[in-house]
Amino acid sequence: MRIFSTATELQQELAHLRADGATIGFVPTMGYLHEGHKSLLLEARNQNDIVVLSIFVNPLQFGANEDLDRYPRDEKRDMLVALETEVDFVFMPDVSDMYPESPLVTVKVQSGVDVLCGSSRPGHFDGVATVLTKLFTIIMPTRTYFGEKDAQQLAIVAGLIRDFNFPIELIPVPTRREADGLAMSSRNVYLHEDERKVAPKLQEALQIGRGMIVAGERDVETIRQAVSHFINTHTHGKIDYVDLLAYPSLERIHRVEGQVILALAVYFQQARLIDNVIMDQHGHQSTVLR
Ligand code: AMP
Repeated sequence: MRIFSTATELQQELAHLRADGATIGFVPTMGYLHEGHKSLLLEARNQNDIVVLSIFVNPLQFGANEDLDRYPRDEKRDMLVALETEVDFVFMPDVSDMYPESPLVTVKVQSGVDVLCGSSRPGHFDGVATVLTKLFTIIMPTRTYFGEKDAQQLAIVAGLIRDFNFPIELIPVPTRREADGLAMSSRNVYLHEDERKVAPKLQEALQIGRGMIVAGERDVETIRQAVSHFINTHTHGKIDYVDLLAYPSLERIHRVEGQVILALAVYFQQARLIDNVIMDQHGHQSTVLR
Protein backbone atom coordinates (compact mmCIF):
# COMPACT_ATOMS: atom_id res chain seq x y z
CA MET A 1 0.00 0.00 0.00
CA ARG A 2 1.30 3.45 -0.88
CA ILE A 3 0.22 6.79 0.50
CA PHE A 4 0.17 9.91 -1.67
CA SER A 5 -0.28 13.46 -0.46
CA THR A 6 0.06 15.25 -3.78
CA ALA A 7 -2.03 14.83 -6.91
CA THR A 8 0.85 14.88 -9.42
CA GLU A 9 2.65 11.84 -8.01
CA LEU A 10 -0.54 9.82 -7.85
CA GLN A 11 -1.48 10.86 -11.39
CA GLN A 12 1.91 9.73 -12.73
CA GLU A 13 1.65 6.39 -11.02
CA LEU A 14 -1.90 5.78 -12.24
CA ALA A 15 -1.04 6.82 -15.81
CA HIS A 16 1.48 3.96 -16.04
CA LEU A 17 -0.96 1.43 -14.67
CA ARG A 18 -3.75 2.63 -16.95
CA ALA A 19 -1.44 2.37 -19.97
CA ASP A 20 -0.86 -1.28 -19.01
CA GLY A 21 -4.63 -1.83 -19.08
CA ALA A 22 -5.29 -1.86 -15.32
CA THR A 23 -8.81 -1.11 -14.12
CA ILE A 24 -9.07 1.39 -11.25
CA GLY A 25 -11.71 1.36 -8.52
CA PHE A 26 -12.05 4.58 -6.55
CA VAL A 27 -13.65 5.09 -3.12
CA PRO A 28 -13.83 8.73 -1.96
CA THR A 29 -14.25 9.25 1.81
CA MET A 30 -13.70 11.72 4.60
CA GLY A 31 -11.93 9.11 6.73
CA TYR A 32 -12.76 7.82 10.21
CA LEU A 33 -13.46 4.61 8.36
CA HIS A 34 -16.05 2.10 9.56
CA GLU A 35 -17.70 -1.05 8.24
CA GLY A 36 -19.80 0.99 5.79
CA HIS A 37 -16.67 2.33 4.12
CA LYS A 38 -15.25 -1.20 4.21
CA SER A 39 -18.16 -2.50 2.11
CA LEU A 40 -17.29 0.04 -0.59
CA LEU A 41 -13.59 -0.85 -0.43
CA LEU A 42 -14.22 -4.59 -0.56
CA GLU A 43 -16.52 -4.24 -3.55
CA ALA A 44 -13.89 -2.08 -5.28
CA ARG A 45 -11.28 -4.72 -4.43
CA ASN A 46 -13.41 -7.47 -5.99
CA GLN A 47 -14.02 -5.63 -9.23
CA ASN A 48 -10.74 -3.84 -10.07
CA ASP A 49 -6.99 -4.36 -10.49
CA ILE A 50 -6.13 -1.26 -8.50
CA VAL A 51 -8.06 0.28 -5.59
CA VAL A 52 -7.65 3.96 -4.71
CA LEU A 53 -9.04 5.31 -1.43
CA SER A 54 -9.15 9.05 -0.88
CA ILE A 55 -9.40 10.56 2.58
CA PHE A 56 -10.15 14.25 2.50
CA VAL A 57 -12.35 16.28 4.82
CA ASN A 58 -13.50 18.75 2.19
CA PRO A 59 -14.03 22.22 3.69
CA LEU A 60 -16.11 23.27 0.66
CA GLN A 61 -18.96 20.97 1.64
CA PHE A 62 -19.29 22.19 5.25
CA GLY A 63 -21.46 25.19 6.13
CA ALA A 64 -20.28 27.94 8.49
CA ASN A 65 -22.07 26.44 11.51
CA GLU A 66 -21.31 22.82 10.76
CA ASP A 67 -18.86 20.36 12.27
CA LEU A 68 -15.78 20.83 10.02
CA ASP A 69 -13.44 21.57 12.95
CA ARG A 70 -14.63 18.67 15.05
CA TYR A 71 -15.18 16.13 12.27
CA PRO A 72 -13.74 12.91 13.77
CA ARG A 73 -10.33 11.80 12.51
CA ASP A 74 -8.20 8.73 13.20
CA GLU A 75 -5.47 8.36 10.62
CA LYS A 76 -3.86 5.32 12.25
CA ARG A 77 -7.04 3.31 12.32
CA ASP A 78 -7.88 4.39 8.76
CA MET A 79 -4.54 3.00 7.57
CA LEU A 80 -5.31 -0.32 9.28
CA VAL A 81 -8.69 -0.50 7.52
CA ALA A 82 -6.99 0.33 4.21
CA LEU A 83 -4.45 -2.46 4.76
CA GLU A 84 -7.11 -4.90 5.81
CA THR A 85 -9.18 -4.23 2.67
CA GLU A 86 -6.08 -4.41 0.46
CA VAL A 87 -6.19 -0.86 -0.82
CA ASP A 88 -3.32 -0.13 -3.24
CA PHE A 89 -3.14 3.65 -3.04
CA VAL A 90 -4.37 6.07 -0.37
CA PHE A 91 -4.70 9.68 -1.48
CA MET A 92 -4.61 12.08 1.47
CA PRO A 93 -4.13 15.59 0.16
CA ASP A 94 -3.84 18.68 2.34
CA VAL A 95 -6.48 21.35 1.95
CA SER A 96 -3.79 23.64 0.49
CA ASP A 97 -2.93 21.00 -2.11
CA MET A 98 -6.54 20.57 -3.23
CA TYR A 99 -7.39 24.28 -3.13
CA PRO A 100 -4.14 26.21 -3.63
CA GLU A 101 -5.78 29.62 -4.00
CA SER A 102 -9.34 30.80 -3.92
CA PRO A 103 -10.67 28.92 -6.93
CA LEU A 104 -11.70 30.56 -10.17
CA VAL A 105 -14.03 27.72 -11.10
CA THR A 106 -16.34 25.63 -8.93
CA VAL A 107 -19.22 23.30 -9.80
CA LYS A 108 -22.83 24.23 -9.14
CA VAL A 109 -25.53 21.58 -8.86
CA GLN A 110 -28.65 22.80 -10.66
CA SER A 111 -31.41 20.54 -9.43
CA GLY A 112 -32.18 18.10 -6.67
CA VAL A 113 -30.64 20.43 -4.08
CA ASP A 114 -33.72 22.24 -2.78
CA VAL A 115 -34.88 19.10 -0.95
CA LEU A 116 -33.64 16.79 1.83
CA CYS A 117 -30.09 17.62 3.01
CA GLY A 118 -29.69 20.18 0.23
CA SER A 119 -32.26 22.50 1.76
CA SER A 120 -30.80 22.37 5.27
CA ARG A 121 -27.19 22.46 4.01
CA PRO A 122 -27.07 25.18 1.32
CA GLY A 123 -23.99 24.88 -0.91
CA HIS A 124 -23.15 21.43 0.47
CA PHE A 125 -23.65 19.57 -2.80
CA ASP A 126 -21.81 22.25 -4.80
CA GLY A 127 -18.85 21.50 -2.52
CA VAL A 128 -19.29 17.75 -3.02
CA ALA A 129 -19.56 18.11 -6.82
CA THR A 130 -16.52 20.39 -6.96
CA VAL A 131 -14.25 18.09 -4.97
CA LEU A 132 -15.46 15.02 -6.87
CA THR A 133 -14.82 16.71 -10.20
CA LYS A 134 -11.25 17.27 -9.05
CA LEU A 135 -10.85 13.76 -7.65
CA PHE A 136 -12.34 12.10 -10.75
CA THR A 137 -10.00 14.14 -12.96
CA ILE A 138 -6.95 13.27 -10.85
CA ILE A 139 -7.72 9.57 -10.52
CA MET A 140 -9.66 8.86 -13.74
CA PRO A 141 -11.12 5.66 -12.28
CA THR A 142 -12.86 2.90 -14.19
CA ARG A 143 -15.45 2.58 -11.43
CA THR A 144 -16.38 4.62 -8.37
CA TYR A 145 -18.26 3.42 -5.29
CA PHE A 146 -20.81 5.39 -3.26
CA GLY A 147 -23.01 4.40 -0.34
CA GLU A 148 -26.80 4.44 -0.56
CA LYS A 149 -26.81 5.92 2.93
CA ASP A 150 -26.06 9.28 1.30
CA ALA A 151 -28.75 8.75 -1.30
CA GLN A 152 -29.10 12.38 -2.36
CA GLN A 153 -25.33 12.50 -2.91
CA LEU A 154 -25.55 9.28 -4.92
CA ALA A 155 -28.25 10.75 -7.19
CA ILE A 156 -26.22 13.95 -7.67
CA VAL A 157 -23.03 12.01 -8.43
CA ALA A 158 -24.96 10.06 -11.08
CA GLY A 159 -25.94 13.43 -12.60
CA LEU A 160 -22.38 14.78 -12.37
CA ILE A 161 -20.98 11.73 -14.17
CA ARG A 162 -23.67 11.95 -16.85
CA ASP A 163 -23.59 15.72 -17.41
CA PHE A 164 -19.78 16.02 -17.47
CA ASN A 165 -19.31 12.82 -19.52
CA PHE A 166 -16.94 11.20 -17.04
CA PRO A 167 -16.21 7.72 -18.44
CA ILE A 168 -16.76 6.21 -14.99
CA GLU A 169 -19.14 3.49 -13.89
CA LEU A 170 -20.98 4.44 -10.70
CA ILE A 171 -21.57 1.54 -8.31
CA PRO A 172 -24.11 2.07 -5.49
CA VAL A 173 -23.42 0.10 -2.32
CA PRO A 174 -26.19 -0.77 0.21
CA THR A 175 -26.12 0.85 3.66
CA ARG A 176 -24.25 -1.14 6.31
CA ARG A 177 -26.02 -1.18 9.66
CA GLU A 178 -25.27 -2.01 13.27
CA ALA A 179 -26.97 -5.18 14.55
CA ASP A 180 -29.89 -3.07 15.85
CA GLY A 181 -30.47 -1.37 12.50
CA LEU A 182 -28.69 1.96 13.03
CA ALA A 183 -26.96 3.04 9.82
CA MET A 184 -23.20 3.14 10.40
CA SER A 185 -21.80 6.65 10.32
CA SER A 186 -18.64 8.42 11.41
CA ARG A 187 -20.92 10.80 13.33
CA ASN A 188 -22.46 8.04 15.51
CA VAL A 189 -19.59 8.60 17.98
CA TYR A 190 -21.27 11.87 18.93
CA LEU A 191 -24.42 10.17 20.20
CA HIS A 192 -25.00 10.20 23.95
CA GLU A 193 -25.75 6.83 25.52
CA ASP A 194 -29.50 7.37 25.68
CA GLU A 195 -29.56 8.74 22.13
CA ARG A 196 -27.63 5.72 20.85
CA LYS A 197 -30.31 3.50 22.39
CA VAL A 198 -33.15 5.14 20.48
CA ALA A 199 -31.24 5.88 17.24
CA PRO A 200 -32.35 2.57 15.61
CA LYS A 201 -35.90 3.95 15.79
CA LEU A 202 -35.04 6.04 12.71
CA GLN A 203 -34.70 2.95 10.53
CA GLU A 204 -37.74 1.45 12.25
CA ALA A 205 -39.73 4.57 11.32
CA LEU A 206 -38.66 4.26 7.68
CA GLN A 207 -39.68 0.60 7.67
CA ILE A 208 -43.10 1.56 9.02
CA GLY A 209 -43.44 3.94 6.07
CA ARG A 210 -42.31 1.23 3.68
CA GLY A 211 -44.80 -1.18 5.27
CA MET A 212 -47.59 1.28 4.52
CA ILE A 213 -46.58 1.30 0.86
CA VAL A 214 -46.41 -2.50 0.79
CA ALA A 215 -49.95 -2.49 2.23
CA GLY A 216 -51.13 -0.25 -0.61
CA GLU A 217 -50.91 3.28 0.82
CA ARG A 218 -50.01 5.73 -1.96
CA ASP A 219 -50.57 9.13 -0.36
CA VAL A 220 -47.20 10.75 0.36
CA GLU A 221 -48.46 13.07 3.10
CA THR A 222 -50.10 10.23 5.04
CA ILE A 223 -46.87 8.24 4.99
CA ARG A 224 -44.73 11.26 5.95
CA GLN A 225 -46.98 12.02 8.90
CA ALA A 226 -46.92 8.46 10.18
CA VAL A 227 -43.11 8.33 9.99
CA SER A 228 -42.72 11.72 11.72
CA HIS A 229 -45.20 10.74 14.42
CA PHE A 230 -43.26 7.56 15.16
CA ILE A 231 -39.97 9.48 15.47
CA ASN A 232 -41.53 12.13 17.70
CA THR A 233 -43.06 9.57 20.03
CA HIS A 234 -40.01 7.25 20.23
CA THR A 235 -37.04 9.65 20.31
CA HIS A 236 -36.15 13.07 21.71
CA GLY A 237 -34.50 13.96 18.40
CA LYS A 238 -35.65 17.01 16.49
CA ILE A 239 -36.78 16.23 12.96
CA ASP A 240 -34.96 18.19 10.25
CA TYR A 241 -36.99 16.51 7.50
CA VAL A 242 -38.98 13.43 6.67
CA ASP A 243 -39.67 13.29 2.97
CA LEU A 244 -40.84 10.97 0.23
CA LEU A 245 -39.65 11.85 -3.28
CA ALA A 246 -39.16 10.32 -6.72
CA TYR A 247 -35.71 8.72 -7.00
CA PRO A 248 -33.20 9.46 -8.44
CA SER A 249 -34.81 12.63 -9.86
CA LEU A 250 -35.57 13.86 -6.29
CA GLU A 251 -38.73 15.49 -7.61
CA ARG A 252 -41.67 16.14 -5.30
CA ILE A 253 -44.61 13.77 -5.69
CA HIS A 254 -48.05 13.52 -4.11
CA ARG A 255 -48.59 9.87 -4.78
CA VAL A 256 -46.15 6.96 -4.68
CA GLU A 257 -45.31 5.97 -8.24
CA GLY A 258 -42.16 4.43 -9.77
CA GLN A 259 -38.99 4.31 -7.68
CA VAL A 260 -39.12 6.50 -4.58
CA ILE A 261 -36.98 7.45 -1.61
CA LEU A 262 -38.28 7.82 1.93
CA ALA A 263 -35.59 9.78 3.75
CA LEU A 264 -35.08 11.54 7.05
CA ALA A 265 -32.65 13.65 9.01
CA VAL A 266 -32.92 14.03 12.78
CA TYR A 267 -30.91 16.26 15.09
CA PHE A 268 -29.67 14.79 18.34
CA GLN A 269 -27.67 16.90 20.79
CA GLN A 270 -24.30 16.61 19.06
CA ALA A 271 -25.12 14.79 15.84
CA ARG A 272 -27.47 15.03 12.92
CA LEU A 273 -28.29 11.54 11.64
CA ILE A 274 -29.64 10.65 8.20
CA ASP A 275 -31.14 7.46 6.86
CA ASN A 276 -33.34 6.40 3.96
CA VAL A 277 -35.00 3.57 2.14
CA ILE A 278 -35.16 3.43 -1.67
CA MET A 279 -37.93 1.24 -3.10
CA ASP A 280 -40.28 0.66 -5.99
CA GLN A 281 -43.96 1.63 -5.87
CA HIS A 282 -44.80 -1.66 -4.16
CA GLY A 283 -42.32 -1.06 -1.35
CA HIS A 284 -39.69 -3.55 -2.56
CA GLN A 285 -36.25 -2.19 -1.76
CA SER A 286 -34.15 -1.54 -4.87
CA THR A 287 -31.87 1.16 -6.25
CA VAL A 288 -31.87 1.91 -9.95
CA LEU A 289 -29.89 5.01 -11.02
CA ARG A 290 -31.41 5.72 -14.39
P1 AMP B 1 -18.04 9.80 4.13
O1 AMP B 1 -16.69 9.41 4.66
O2 AMP B 1 -19.08 9.98 5.18
O3 AMP B 1 -17.95 10.94 3.15
O4 AMP B 1 -18.54 8.56 3.28
C1 AMP B 1 -17.77 8.04 2.23
C2 AMP B 1 -18.60 7.04 1.46
O5 AMP B 1 -19.00 5.98 2.33
C3 AMP B 1 -19.90 7.64 0.89
O6 AMP B 1 -20.11 7.11 -0.40
C4 AMP B 1 -20.93 7.16 1.87
O7 AMP B 1 -22.22 7.05 1.30
C5 AMP B 1 -20.39 5.79 2.23
N1 AMP B 1 -20.96 5.33 3.49
C6 AMP B 1 -21.01 6.00 4.67
N2 AMP B 1 -21.67 5.29 5.62
C7 AMP B 1 -22.06 4.14 5.00
C8 AMP B 1 -22.80 2.99 5.42
N3 AMP B 1 -23.26 2.86 6.66
N4 AMP B 1 -23.01 2.00 4.52
C9 AMP B 1 -22.54 2.11 3.25
N5 AMP B 1 -21.85 3.17 2.79
C10 AMP B 1 -21.61 4.17 3.64
